[in-house]
Amino acid sequence: MGKQRKDKQSRFFEVRKELCTGCGLCVNNCPKDAISFLWGKAEIDQRKCVRCGLCVKACPRGAIVEKVVILPKALEKEVQSLQMQVEAILGRLDKLTGVK
Ligand code: SF4
Ligand code: SF4
Repeated sequence: MGKQRKDKQSRFFEVRKELCTGCGLCVNNCPKDAISFLWGKAEIDQRKCVRCGLCVKACPRGAIVEKVVILPKALEKEVQSLQMQVEAILGRLDKLTGVK
């Protein structure tokens, strides 16, 4: 449950305006009334959007895309993990080359 919530917070949906034809299918399929039109192109109100992804499925033009945000905490964990991997590799190299 907690993980799912975190996942939802780290992603959002965006309209690629150049692909949008203004057909309105995404508007009709959004359960939260989060999509409106601006200059004939769909626009998502991120405050209303619950990241369900139904608009992505509804769009025949593939104009709605999912974006993932890397949250600072997740980034920190990634860096720590990479550091540990680098240290392990350097340790192995030292053993192979006989450096003490
Ligand atoms: S992801 Fe769901 S709530 Fe958000 S705009 Fe699309 S259909 Fe609406
Ligand atoms: S369904 Fe796709 S093409 Fe149609 S209005 Fe929505 S974003 Fe634009």
